[in-house]
Amino acid sequence: MFTPAELLEINTLLTPENKIVILTHYNPDGDAIGSSLGLKHYLKAKGIHAEVIVPNDFPKFLKWMPESKKVIIAEYKRKLAADMIAAADVIFCLDFNSPSRIGLLGDWLVKAQGKKILIDHHQQPEQFDFVYSDTVIPATSQMIYHFIEALEDEKLVNQDMAECMYTGIMTDTGGFRFRSTSATTHRIIANLIEKGADPAMITSNTWDTNTVSRLHLLALVLGRIEVVNNGTVAILSLTRNELKEFGFQKGDTEGFVNYGLSIAGVKMSAFFMEDLYEDFIKISFRSKDDVDVNQFSRKYFNGGGHINAAGGKSYGSLNNTIGNFKDVLDKDDFIKS
Ligand code: 5GP
Ligand code: MN
Repeated sequence: MFTPAELLEINTLLTPENKIVILTHYNPDGDAIGSSLGLKHYLKAKGIHAEVIVPNDFPKFLKWMPESKKVIIAEYKRKLAADMIAAADVIFCLDFNSPSRIGLLGDWLVKAQGKKILIDHHQQPEQFDFVYSDTVIPATSQMIYHFIEALEDEKLVNQDMAECMYTGIMTDTGGFRFRSTSATTHRIIANLIEKGADPAMITSNTWDTNTVSRLHLLALVLGRIEVVNNGTVAILSLTRNELKEFGFQKGDTEGFVNYGLSIAGVKMSAFFMEDLYEDFIKISFRSKDDVDVNQFSRKYFNGGGHINAAGGKSYGSLNNTIGNFKDVLDKDDFIKS
């Protein structure tokens, strides 16, 4: 948490007169949108206006959240987003650790004069004016709750805030399953339910909204899972043509990489997908126990993230990238079987 002195200083910045923006990472997920809107609703409950700005669009299954339609998407409203960041007195940076993770917002953030407040749970955060970074907490949305607690404002938590923070915690813990899901996480979830978050509604709106294109793509991906490295590594992949053929929509492949990890004996799963428009391969890594995919992705695939969930990029062809991945596995032997 921020120090008491930092909290005092932050508190003095949170006034209706100050211009406040909330930024989150490229390809926003449930925790990115949940923490950002949760914080926005908290500030609103204090009588303070803030705008949420994201680099690019986010999936439809997150657009039920209160005020999700008011999020400013910079790829569609470039000038507005740039002007707001330049004019802001306070810039909350949620669920990312470096300006390189927020696409076109990155340059604007670096140049901005406002006070930069980081709240994030990724490894190795960069420099900001105020930093609350904790890699043990499973979701930035949980950190927003702790921030509200630290400001002694729990009484302000309302249904809008509760729904957003619940969604962020639910999605980033894979439905309260991943390793850092703690008793504290569940206590906060219990409080959020008491404040009006409805688990059945949230789960149904977020997860039971599959598109047919997603299920067809899933069938294709599952049909070609490859297990290598003595049964410890699963590889999944999709080409751009396949995405096109099945009518890919944003968010359709969310969570596919987890199926690799569900195979007995597999300690690391890697999902390689050609980008729909640009010539690069987006890679998702997931792992179990001590297999550190953050380090692995930083070292070999221009990425990073958390110990057990990370992403990366490669500029070769899909086949070369997967070939390179297998070579790296052979020579690095970082997975001890
Ligand atoms: P995903 O596989 O869901 O895209 O990402 C998994 C985790 O790794 C997320 O927490 C995400 O923020 C992080 N991540 C994804 N791609 C990158 C990347 O290119 N660089 C870094 N540093 N982190 C990433
Ligand atoms: Mn997160």
